[in-house]
Amino acid sequence: MKIYNSATHAKEEFQPIEEGKVRMYVCGPTVYDNIHIGNARTFISFDVIRRWLIASGYEVTFAQNLTDVDDKIINRANEQGRTAEEVATEFSNKFIDVMHRANVMDPDVRPRATKEIGPMIGMIKTLIEGGHAYAADNGDVYFAVRSDPTYGEVSGRKVDDLMVGVRIAAGEAKRDPLDFALWKAAKPGEPMWNSPWGKGRPGWHTECAAMVHRYLGCPIDIHGGGSDLAFPHHENECAQATCAWHEGFANTWMHTGMLLVDGEKMSKSLGNFFTLEEVLEKHSAAALRLLMLQTHYRSPLDFSWERLEGAENSLTRIAGTVQNLHWAAAHAADEPDNMASDALGEDLAACGRTFTACMDDDFNTAGALAAVFEAVTRANQYLEDTQGRAAVDEGAAIAAAGVISNWLGTLGIELPELEEELPAGLLGVAAGLCAYTGDDVNEAAERILAARAEARAAKNWDVADAIRDQLRDMGLVIEDTAAGSRIKHA
Ligand code: AMP
Ligand code: ZN
Repeated sequence: MKIYNSATHAKEEFQPIEEGKVRMYVCGPTVYDNIHIGNARTFISFDVIRRWLIASGYEVTFAQNLTDVDDKIINRANEQGRTAEEVATEFSNKFIDVMHRANVMDPDVRPRATKEIGPMIGMIKTLIEGGHAYAADNGDVYFAVRSDPTYGEVSGRKVDDLMVGVRIAAGEAKRDPLDFALWKAAKPGEPMWNSPWGKGRPGWHTECAAMVHRYLGCPIDIHGGGSDLAFPHHENECAQATCAWHEGFANTWMHTGMLLVDGEKMSKSLGNFFTLEEVLEKHSAAALRLLMLQTHYRSPLDFSWERLEGAENSLTRIAGTVQNLHWAAAHAADEPDNMASDALGEDLAACGRTFTACMDDDFNTAGALAAVFEAVTRANQYLEDTQGRAAVDEGAAIAAAGVISNWLGTLGIELPELEEELPAGLLGVAAGLCAYTGDDVNEAAERILAARAEARAAKNWDVADAIRDQLRDMGLVIEDTAAGSRIKHA
C-alpha cells in the first residue's frame, strides 16, 4: 500500500511501526458551533482511510480529540451569556451525533482537552527542563521555536522565511516572534486551571501532542487533518512532541484538500458554508460521501447542490441494479447460461482488482468508484442478456449484487433501500388482451402500464400489485426507469 506523505512530498510504501497494527490520530473539531461540510470532508476522508486500512487486515487504533477550550468557544459563550463549558458540551454532543448520521465510525479514543490538563502540564514541564520552552513573567509559557533544529519539516518551511511579517502582538511576552504559546495565563471570566506557572489554560497546539503521546505512544504511524492545519498547528504539535520525548512524532503526515464553494474555501469566517446537519436533512449520507469520494482526498473538492443531486441519482441507479440482480436471482433459470455467468464473474473479479489497486494507491477513491460503476454497467448488461433468454444464474446474480454492495460498504456508502415493487410481468396480459381486441400488443401493454401507474398514483396498491403479480405469473417484468416504465420478457 502506498500513501502520500505530505512531509516528504512523496508517495511511500506504507510500513507500520508494529507489524499488522496502525496507530493514527486525526485532529478533531473545536466545538463552538455546528460543523460544516468542509470539516466533514476531512473527517469522512479519514473515515474512509481508516476503513480501508481495517479492510486490508490492519488492527487500527484511531484517536481524535475534541478541542473544548479555545478562544472561539469563550467568545461564543460570552456572546450568548453562557459558560464555555455549556457551549462546548452542546457542540461536542452535536458533533458526535452528526458524525453518526454521516456514517463516520467513532474513534477508539476521544480525549477532550479539558480532561487532559495534567498530561499537558507534564509535557510543558519536560519542555522547560529540556530548554525548549520558557515561562514569561506574565504567566504565559512559550515554546522556543529556534531550539528545535527540525522545526519546519512537517510543512516544508524554513525558519528564517517564517520571520517575514511576524510580530509580537500586544499582551504577548515572547522572546522571539516565532515562538508560540504552550500555556496562556488566565484572564478574568475565562476557564482556568492551576499550574506551576499560575492559573491559566493550554494553548491550542498543546493538547494534540500530549494526547498522541498518552493514548497512542510516539511515534505514531499516521497523523492527519485538513491541509490548513499543516502550518502552524501540525508543525507545532510535532515540535513539542519531538523536543519533549525525542522519539519522533508521526511517520506519515496526511492532509486533505479543502472543500470549495464557487472556487473559495468553505469556512465559517467567509460565511459560505452549509452545515453537515442541514445537508443531511436534504440528502442521504451515502450521496454526500459518494460525491466526496469521486474526488481524491488531497485535491480540492468543488461542492454544489447539483453535484449532490447527481450523486443521489447515481446511488439510486446502483441500488436499482442490485435490486434487479436479487430479483433475477429469485427467478433464476433451471438451466442457466454458464458462459454468460462465467464471463460476468471474470469481469467483476477484474473490477475488484482495480478497486483494490486504486485504494492501495494512496486511497484513490475516484478510481475505486469508477471500478464500481464499471461493475454496475457489466451487471446490467448481464441482466439484459440473460433475462432476454431467461438464463439467469442465481449464484452469479447474488454474487454480483454482493460485491457491488460490499465494495461500497467498505467505503462507508450504504445503498438506499428501494421500494419493493419493481419487476413484474405484463406482455402476456397484453397478448391475452390483444387476442380479444385485435390491438397491437405494445399498445395494449401501454394501456396496462398506464392502468398500473394510475392505481399507484391513487395509492391503490392492491390493484397495482394484482396487475404486477398477474404479469409476473406470465413471466413478464415491468421495469420502472427514470424515463418511465417498460415491459420486458422475464
Ligand atoms: P477546525 O474545527 O476549524 O479545527 O476544523 C476541523 C477540521 O476541518 C480540520 O482538520 C480542518 O483542517 C478541516 N477543515 C476546515 N475547513 C475545511 C474545508 N473547507 N475543507 C476541508 N477541510 C476543512
Ligand atoms: Zn491537532
